[in-house]
Amino acid sequence: MTLYSMKMRASRTENGKSEHISGAERILPENALAKNAGAMIERALHHSKGCADYIQVKIEEARPEEIERIEALPVSTRETANAAEGQKTILSFLRKIGIANGDAVMKKFRETYAMRGAMLLDADTLERLEPDPARGIRATYMDAEHGDARGSCAGKNHFREAIVLASKVANAPHILAEICVSDDPGYVTGYVASKKTGYIRITRLKEPDDPNGGRIFLYRGPREDVPKTIAYLEKQKTLVKNAPTAPAPVPPVDPWRVLGEDVLRRKEAGLYRTITTIESAQSAHVRANGRDLLMLASNSYLGLIDHPRVKQAAADAAQMFGGGSGGSRLTTGSLPLHDELEAAISRFKGTEASLLFDTGYMANVGILSALGRKDATIFSDELNHASIIDGCRLSRAKTIIYRHADMGDLEAKIKAVRPSFGVIVSDAVFSMDGDVAPLPELIALAKRYGLLSMIDEAHATGVVGKTGRGLAEHFGLSEQPDVVMGTLSKSLASEGGFAAGRSLLIEYLRNTARSFIFSTSQSPANLAAAKEALTILAEEPERVARLQRNTQVFIDALRENGVETRSDSAIVPIIVGDERRALRAAKQLYDEGIFLSAIRYPTVAKGSARLRAAIMATHTEDELRAAAAKIAASIRTQA
Ligand code: PMP
Repeated sequence: MTLYSMKMRASRTENGKSEHISGAERILPENALAKNAGAMIERALHHSKGCADYIQVKIEEARPEEIERIEALPVSTRETANAAEGQKTILSFLRKIGIANGDAVMKKFRETYAMRGAMLLDADTLERLEPDPARGIRATYMDAEHGDARGSCAGKNHFREAIVLASKVANAPHILAEICVSDDPGYVTGYVASKKTGYIRITRLKEPDDPNGGRIFLYRGPREDVPKTIAYLEKQKTLVKNAPTAPAPVPPVDPWRVLGEDVLRRKEAGLYRTITTIESAQSAHVRANGRDLLMLASNSYLGLIDHPRVKQAAADAAQMFGGGSGGSRLTTGSLPLHDELEAAISRFKGTEASLLFDTGYMANVGILSALGRKDATIFSDELNHASIIDGCRLSRAKTIIYRHADMGDLEAKIKAVRPSFGVIVSDAVFSMDGDVAPLPELIALAKRYGLLSMIDEAHATGVVGKTGRGLAEHFGLSEQPDVVMGTLSKSLASEGGFAAGRSLLIEYLRNTARSFIFSTSQSPANLAAAKEALTILAEEPERVARLQRNTQVFIDALRENGVETRSDSAIVPIIVGDERRALRAAKQLYDEGIFLSAIRYPTVAKGSARLRAAIMATHTEDELRAAAAKIAASIRTQA
């Protein structure tokens, strides 16, 4: 049967420069030409790189005697974790096929970045053999046999195309091997191929966002045969038999090895996490390993965890109601404590109603997955807490991240989408930096664009605002955002989370928030402890004032010792930068009797590791001053 070679090339001219947009080729029977030509043209006109303004479709007859049929190279995959590992894999491949100077070959690779075609490189002398070095060699006139004549080119199969090309190249006279890295910044998988080894996919050959890629054909043969090789690559019509359309499933690996390697990598990178056992209550001073330590890492900002009234309330509730709550409230019912605590939270936050969750984490996940309906858009600050991020992920909404506390960026992003239903969500106090969200502007934007506003007051309740009522009080606002989320685990000395807002919001969440519906509610002791802590907070606002003063004393003392930092809350970040250095400083401080945490990637960005001090109302000013001096010294020592 007569076949036809069909090639399409599309480009677009911008500012006088012609940019390649898309190219494709097939070898097809006559009855498949029109449909495939149409599909190729469609693709050129609607390509992600832009709409072509010049499209060339060339069709040539390919007589049966002109077509060579070859077998596809066998395919295997090497999983590599990063570009460096990928490069190592190439070097070992080159050694295997008898190329000793692999490093020098890979140095030449840079020269291919600007080329459209491939470099033809003498494998031994490293001389470039292309007649036109700017253009390089273009391997063309090939397709998979039984090319999907009915299929459209919109469903272009990049995987199969790469194998078709590599199989043809490996079959060319005197071609020893090919090395290929895509120039697509989003595509990090590349390959090496040779007749001897087959086609070896390397899953990571470069880091994401790297726009550099290229191709080298390694040649080993007499110089006079070079034209023959080029003619084969550029002109020989080739059909490749049995080219697979998808990578074979990766053979199972030992899962324990995978986990073990992950843990090892974390240890090597200074990212391994350990847990210290604290042998006393979480108060301003704790015992660990038999030693007394100044606690500068606790979220019990008001020091209420071991307040006698809180402990008594928890004990009484356990006596009266027992250990657990028995199930989800929707199926098992509520305790009076649930209702009383919800009423107290609503009173404290000045909202119509509230709803309890088991933890703050579950509150964020439940609220955001419930509000993040299919038609919704969530706008989320880039430094929001992990539980907000996870809530967005679990929702069916589109999530758009705006720059930290940047209301200009937020508005631009809202304007670009104009969602019919949307939520703006932000930490009230950012948990790793201690700064606050610009709440008045955030609420104004939400109103202007008809969106819901939501803040996470985990580190704001009991901490910011004159009486610790949170961010609205801090800014002197008379109204709350639409959703006030909070936790009972920090200032409120217990465990649990909440959503507070209009009654309609709470009704909606009670019916839709899956972390509320499908999880057993908090234990009686938890509920009673939080309720008592909230009562104390409302009765004794001077605790909040003491916390705020203590934080200022600590920041001033750090400054006097040469460490500049700031905070709007009780979280004081002391940026160190390097992960290992932060870890060493924290260790030194631990040895000197101060417990505080080194916060590292992935909790914060790589290279912005920090010591994170959390101040309590129950610290004394003298001990905070002494701690600040030790912290400053530890950073200097570990520099
Ligand atoms: N939001 C923020 C900002 C937090 O810091 C935390 C706790 N680290 C949570 C939510 C989760 O709260 P919980 O510990 O009660 O699960």
